[in-house]
Amino acid sequence: MCLFSFKSCKNKPQEINRESDKINYTIKDSVEPCENFYEYVCSNIRDSFKTSLNNSSYLFASIFREHAQKIKKEIGISVDEQTKINFFKEKCIKIGKGPQRCQELGENFYLQEVYAKNINKFIEKYSERKEKVINIFNNLKITAVKKIKDSSYLKESNKNIAIKKLNELRLIIIEPRIEKVENDLLININDNELEKENKYDFFNSMAFARDEENTVYIGLSVINILAAPAASVLNENRVAFILAHEFGHIILIPLNRSLSNIRESLLQEFNNLPENSIILPNILNISYGQQTFFENLSDLLGMMNVYENSLENKVTEDESIKSSEKASVDKDFFIAYARNFCATKEVENKPLVREKNGQKIPIDLHARPIYRVNLGVKRMADFSKLFQCSAKHKLNFDPYAELKIW
Ligand SMILES: [Zn+2]
Repeated sequence: MCLFSFKSCKNKPQEINRESDKINYTIKDSVEPCENFYEYVCSNIRDSFKTSLNNSSYLFASIFREHAQKIKKEIGISVDEQTKINFFKEKCIKIGKGPQRCQELGENFYLQEVYAKNINKFIEKYSERKEKVINIFNNLKITAVKKIKDSSYLKESNKNIAIKKLNELRLIIIEPRIEKVENDLLININDNELEKENKYDFFNSMAFARDEENTVYIGLSVINILAAPAASVLNENRVAFILAHEFGHIILIPLNRSLSNIRESLLQEFNNLPENSIILPNILNISYGQQTFFENLSDLLGMMNVYENSLENKVTEDESIKSSEKASVDKDFFIAYARNFCATKEVENKPLVREKNGQKIPIDLHARPIYRVNLGVKRMADFSKLFQCSAKHKLNFDPYAELKIW
């Protein structure tokens, strides 16, 4: 969920916990959604997460650990593959990585061919679901281009840059490959190579955008969401939010120039949080609002894109909505948005900075999950309407902060 050129993308995007996909989603009725929507959607799910950070699984990487066991047991691996894994492990340990991690990286890399050949055994209806993700991507793209084109609000020059970028935007799915990789024993594994763990650990990505390549990359985790035991519309919306957030990174630079009101209100909101006064300005001379600004703006751009896309689809499905009152999304839209941020307690409260070589550096460009959810939904009039929020509620719609992008 980040722009790859940022250092923090090397950290696992921990706001998302894949383990939760095994559990049916339930909301917590005792929490008032208009007071704390994050808690309303996530508290039951969080209770079912494993408590230790080390054991909790965030990404497909950990799902693949189970699959690797299954490959070894049920499909079997060749002597050749085993030799390569052992050799890789040995080299990897020599440069200081832990044995378990080295085993995992070796298996990820050398079992990918057998994994690719048998992928339907592991992710049900894989090709169908992959198609679905590509469709969602293309639909979001069409909607965003249309909305930007029609906008009377954005400046022409900025519109044109954003539209050009969107029209040329590519999606790359990081998936196991069948063709032989450079997997002979002479492979040079050095610290530098392992730093780029993605090369060996292709499951270790949720989604990221590379602005300079105009490309959105997603890992198998995103496709796997469609296999989660929840209503398919909820799962599809979750995927849409992930993709649209990345679109946000791609178009935020041109659009940001037109969005001064959103910029101001975002900075103000996040600078008013306790996180701002406690740590960042004193240590790094940067406010919490500035630190998390691009991620926050991508969240909002993404939310608006999925919102418009849902309305477009609704109108085409049911022509009568056009003539009746203005179409609106339903509660599932907001639940799916929040659902992607549900995290363990440790992740919710993780420190904002860490020490490296005696210097304090920020850990994450993303704000805490609770803010990403609550401060996002309150910008949407539909949220207040659907959950019947009123003036006494924290998340009641505030026209000052209305999410108006195009
Ligand atoms: Zn991001």
